[in-house]
Amino acid sequence: MTDPGMKCSRCKGPARHRFPQHNARFCDPCLEIFFQRQVQKAIDKFGMLSPGQKVLVAVSGGKDSLALWQVLCDLGYEAEGLHLALDLGPFSAVSLESCQAMASRLGRPLRLASLEEMAGFSVQEIVWANRRQFCSICGTMKRHYLNRLALDLGHDTIATGHHLDDEAGRLLGNMIHGHADHLARQWPVLEAGEGGFARKVKPLCRMGGEEITAYAKAHELPVASGKCPKSKGATLPFYQEAMRLLDQKMPGTKRDFYLGFLRGKDGPPPPPQAPPPPATARHARAPFPRLPVAQSPP
Ligand SMILES: [Zn+2]
Repeated sequence: MTDPGMKCSRCKGPARHRFPQHNARFCDPCLEIFFQRQVQKAIDKFGMLSPGQKVLVAVSGGKDSLALWQVLCDLGYEAEGLHLALDLGPFSAVSLESCQAMASRLGRPLRLASLEEMAGFSVQEIVWANRRQFCSICGTMKRHYLNRLALDLGHDTIATGHHLDDEAGRLLGNMIHGHADHLARQWPVLEAGEGGFARKVKPLCRMGGEEITAYAKAHELPVASGKCPKSKGATLPFYQEAMRLLDQKMPGTKRDFYLGFLRGKDGPPPPPQAPPPPATARHARAPFPRLPVAQSPP
């Protein structure tokens, strides 16, 4: 992505990163300024956090969540980490090590929990009982238990590493399949709702995967190597790949698509409501917990 001799768009020194979508090239220090400004802009525009606010950052050990934790600390937020272990063998062990290395680098607390211990069943058992894709069940369980942990730990706001590629990919999938309910709820902030819902914020919603990769490299973040062994059935990567191809041919398309969608909305969606109790005979007899189906992105 870089050419020898290319100059930084800000300081005119030697540049290391090239971002055609911004028509910009940056050295490491200027990338830092750019990244922090973009994240702060998202936080301010969507009213995600107040200055210095306490926030719980859901960290997986991947580049996105570690970059989020780093930038929130650098911007002066009181950011604690929370790692919800998925108990998927060596992949989970490496992920945990990355989160612990990041916590000691930042000198911030890292809370740990196990999805299997909290649920009483493994994700795989619940996948079999519900006959749905692994990623869909895992995502629903993570949202449910992260929310519960945040409230138990006394946090009212959870920040996640979802970024522009995730949001643009989801948007494309929801548009193609006409998921009006998901489109209505797609917004980088989900306000706290009745029935015990913490606020959810996505401060990286303006940052693309390539910008986050560059930032993670510049900071030498202890990112976990490898990929989730269960991600084969996920559909989101197809929509992300389609967006990437469009962006490659027409730089800036991905940003225009997602940010234009947000500009066209009236405002944030209403806060979530507690679902009705699932007390049907069928559910009562189910050998494993049946999960709420709502909020499952493509
Ligand atoms: Zn520079």
